[in-house]
Amino acid sequence: MTTRTAHKIILVGAPGAGKGTVAKGLVDRFGLTHLSTGDMLRAAVAAGSQVGLLAKTFMDRGALVPDDVMVKLISERVQQPDCRNTDGSPRFLLDGFPRTLPQADALAAEGLAPDLVLFIDVPNESVVRRLSGRRTCPACGNVHHVEFAPPLKDGVCDRCGGTLVHRSDDHDATIRKRLDAFAAQTAPLVQRYGTVIEKVDGNQPPEIVLKAAVAVLRRHGNAGEGTL
Ligand code: AMP
Repeated sequence: MTTRTAHKIILVGAPGAGKGTVAKGLVDRFGLTHLSTGDMLRAAVAAGSQVGLLAKTFMDRGALVPDDVMVKLISERVQQPDCRNTDGSPRFLLDGFPRTLPQADALAAEGLAPDLVLFIDVPNESVVRRLSGRRTCPACGNVHHVEFAPPLKDGVCDRCGGTLVHRSDDHDATIRKRLDAFAAQTAPLVQRYGTVIEKVDGNQPPEIVLKAAVAVLRRHGNAGEGTL
């Protein structure tokens, strides 16, 4: 049982493990700011910025964007007021960062080593099935799945009516490459964060995974709203 409240929280998991879905459920309940590097990069790509143009060349082939680019992106973002408690101490939920040991080192060097790491564990076969059927709405961020959560009207987002897309990196060959990158570069973080890591079985329905994650945050001192 921990006594200090964990406010520097990191989500680790293979692509498609459900980090984004869990993050959405947690930020609402616990008032944390959600920092998804994948979302930040996709916004940069859409905006056509220099970072976006560079990142796209890596993302499209399932490779990780270079550490120096990612570290700069996150270092600037965590300085913003919405990532601070009223006493100035850090408060964030990082989703997709760090993804390599050097990224973890950079975070620690800024005094931002996590006090809780949620590892969402999902076998590779489930990831492939989830990602290849995933359809996302670029307009509102909603996620459908052709098999598990089909939209009412083919290709149309239930929430906002936007046109659903099959993300360029959610195709089979790229998914395999992203899984390889996870095994080679990100999985070592599980060892690195040994003392603050909590594993959640991500191979269950989303609401069960979220419930388990909520329970972990509560055990780490967070008083969340809602009944889960
Ligand atoms: P995600 O939406 O989190 O699966 O991220 C999509 C893609 O963005 C990844 O496959 C990487 O190419 C890139 N990316 C996101 N976060 C990072 C990171 N921390 N380090 C390097 N590349 C990243």
